[in-house]
Amino acid sequence: MKIEKISMYRVCNPIKNPYTTAFGTQKAFNSVVVKLESEGFSGWGEVAPGGGPMFSCYTDKTTFTIARDFIVPKVLGRNFDSGAELQQLLAPIRGNEYAKAAFDVALWDLLSRKQGIPLKQAIGGTHEKASIGYCFGVLKTFDDLIAGIDKMTSMGYPRIKLKFCPGWECDMLDAVRSVYPDLTIHIDCNSAYTLADIDMLKSLDKYNLAMIEQPLMHDDLIDHAKLQKQIATPICLDESICSVQDARQAIEIGACKVINIKYARVGGITPALEIHKLCGENNIGCWLGGMGESSLGTTVVANLATLPHVNYPSDISPVDKFYVENLGTPLLTTEQPGTYTMRNRPGLDVEPDMSVLEKYKQEEFFA
Ligand SMILES: [Mg+2]
Repeated sequence: MKIEKISMYRVCNPIKNPYTTAFGTQKAFNSVVVKLESEGFSGWGEVAPGGGPMFSCYTDKTTFTIARDFIVPKVLGRNFDSGAELQQLLAPIRGNEYAKAAFDVALWDLLSRKQGIPLKQAIGGTHEKASIGYCFGVLKTFDDLIAGIDKMTSMGYPRIKLKFCPGWECDMLDAVRSVYPDLTIHIDCNSAYTLADIDMLKSLDKYNLAMIEQPLMHDDLIDHAKLQKQIATPICLDESICSVQDARQAIEIGACKVINIKYARVGGITPALEIHKLCGENNIGCWLGGMGESSLGTTVVANLATLPHVNYPSDISPVDKFYVENLGTPLLTTEQPGTYTMRNRPGLDVEPDMSVLEKYKQEEFFA
């Protein structure tokens, strides 16, 4: 299909409750939305790199700039029959995976709409539903956490993820395991540790965790490989996997036994599918993560979570509880907490609510 028109929007979408991480507190999520048009069809893509270079080295502004100045001139007027063709064309642009991902997703949406098939079918999804876990950040007390876990497990969430950082460590796990000795639990360290913490990290084996997510530096593979040799609990790499090459090298040196695939961070659906394939070929577990996208991007995550080698419940933001006004429509449908079922309609099947997009847009560009 020949790309006849491109629309781009930079959006700052307010959230209901301030979101606090190690990087500070934010009251909105910043994203870039791309629309590709061809032959009367349109396809949409969204990435949420955030307003500052903390979750990655990119922001909504850098993503928008690279997309406008370097990707649009390459893509406009070109014919594409696959995401692979787009990735090949964009290969000379180093890094900037978020910018590439917005176009890659929009192209998958466009192509599957033209073919009249759901995105899930186009990417080879086989699970009937996406299985979704629940994540807890740092709370005020262990009692608050136990009460929260009680609620979410009784609602049907199949696994619980716990943020884990200095001040919220083994005492917290002792408290949780004393009440839930067998619950499927994993921890996410968000790069809070180094090999100097090896004794504490080794002691985690006794908690029977499903995995330890990103214990060491955000861009490290080698230290993770050293750590994995010394602990029985599987290491899951998240921040360290920014490309297919990262995944291949991590697997090759034994840096992880599980990968959390984030489509925006790796450059789109096309590389996400390659990483998923690598995981399957090498007996590495995988699941999907989100980065605060609206239901536009969250639905991409849910579709990828139906892929055959995905063997662990994914992280999908509860967008209706998160944003003041959700950008994408319709919202993902949840028959019961812990699963998402895609509607059986062509493409991604989610489009921006244009009134919400207009309200929160910071910048736009048309070509
Ligand atoms: Mg993580």
